[in-house]
Amino acid sequence: MTSVTTLPAFKAVIDGRLVDGPDRLPVTNPATGEIFAYAPDCDAAQLDDAVAAARRAFAPWSATPSEIRGDKLRAIAAKIQEELEPLSCLLTREQGKTLAEARLEIETAARWFAYYADQDLPVEERREPDGRRAEIRRVPLGVVGAVAPWNFPVQLMAWKLAPALKAGNTVVAKPSPFTPLATLRLGELMAELLPPGTFNILTGGDHLGPLMSGHPHIDKIAFTGSTATGKAVMRSAAGTLKRLTLELGGNDPAIVLADADPEAVAERIYWGAFRNAGQVCIAAKRIYVHDAIYERFAEKMVALAHAYPPMPGDAPGARMGPVQNRVQFERVKTMIEDARASGLTFLTEPGDMAGPGYFIAPTIIDNPPDDSAVVREEPFGPLLPLLRFTDVDEVVRRANASEYGLAASVWSADMEAAAALGRRLEAGTVWLNTIHGLTPTLPFGGHKQSGIGVENAEEGLREYTNVQVLVKAA
Ligand code: NAD
Repeated sequence: MTSVTTLPAFKAVIDGRLVDGPDRLPVTNPATGEIFAYAPDCDAAQLDDAVAAARRAFAPWSATPSEIRGDKLRAIAAKIQEELEPLSCLLTREQGKTLAEARLEIETAARWFAYYADQDLPVEERREPDGRRAEIRRVPLGVVGAVAPWNFPVQLMAWKLAPALKAGNTVVAKPSPFTPLATLRLGELMAELLPPGTFNILTGGDHLGPLMSGHPHIDKIAFTGSTATGKAVMRSAAGTLKRLTLELGGNDPAIVLADADPEAVAERIYWGAFRNAGQVCIAAKRIYVHDAIYERFAEKMVALAHAYPPMPGDAPGARMGPVQNRVQFERVKTMIEDARASGLTFLTEPGDMAGPGYFIAPTIIDNPPDDSAVVREEPFGPLLPLLRFTDVDEVVRRANASEYGLAASVWSADMEAAAALGRRLEAGTVWLNTIHGLTPTLPFGGHKQSGIGVENAEEGLREYTNVQVLVKAA
């Protein structure tokens, strides 16, 4: 093992300066279980410094013309693109995902900056019946706290940073302690391009997130993570009535109707379930397949699972990496062991889960009861139930019987039948004969306990503003 002193130590950015924390956090490569770098473990005083710097930077940044802010975002997009390879390799090393997945994630981050560079919320004019005229303006909120999870650390952070900065806010960002490095590197690149204090980034242990959501001088928390943590954020944000965007957990159904081509659809759904080793908020997590085609569909899913075993993300030909961290690895293992103990039938086996890397092979369960944990809970790993159905009304009821409502997909040879069914699903996004491929131009957000508010598109930009109405006498 490399000696501790030779491991690279990444820096936080506060007020334009690269800084260490009073302590440091080890970062583990999930493919090996080994620590390979350190991130700063920042404390409350550093958070206060970052928030104070962001507040000072707010007046000049919000007064900067929107086109100039757009130019800065374009420069950030170009810089990310220039650094595509090193950022992707670092992301694979800390997150575990394959290099192809990492490249896609980094490119997505660049794409979001480029998209928001061109977006604006122009002043709207209205004339009232009494002859008065009004200007409806969208003004920035102030300091935004951006908090991201470990499954798509860079992409989900970029989804917050780009619209927050374009709307004229300044930012204090906090990646997950499990995956801080690529985002810290992005932070360094951004700090070179933005005025000091406009963008700050800190990493730290479990103490830091709650300090942000309760901070008296942060005006909004833009958060992606689990539903349980989202509720904690909402509770601590209540003290100062912070604005919130919460993108939370999901347990997305995919519904395959009797007229769908089972093999072709299985291939699409397979990667909708197992990409990023199943650690995707919008992964297909409950697959309802019509009884008439269930066997053929299941056979194809099993063949794919055998064809693509997990391997280190940088191995040639890797299509699926390890689970990202030990806690999640243990959680998925426990769900698998519980499923076995309760007598469920496995169509594929999880393989050797002894470690040291956090590898679990794609594990598919045959028609478990609706009330089993693998159906009710979000496994957030390579564990997937296939469920039989015969009647459309019955499958709608079962698909909607969840506290989550993030996304869903419907698969059929008849697009109108798929759309009719899709409209009945309680989910923020419903894909019809397609899945994923999120774009910056469509709003994305959850129903029910999958979140509050939306990200992306103009709707997402609005969430970083307050409405201000100027009323002019007739
Ligand atoms: P998590 O909720 O454990 O952590 C998310 C982030 O919040 C981390 O940076 C963490 O340090 C921070 N945090 C913890 N407590 C906090 C607090 N009280 N205040 C502020 N921040 C706090 O989530 P995770 O395990 O990193 O990610 C997995 C979860 O994220 C899954 O449930 C997944 O479905 C969800 N997710 C949702 C979306 C979406 O867009 N809806 C996207 C990706 C992941």
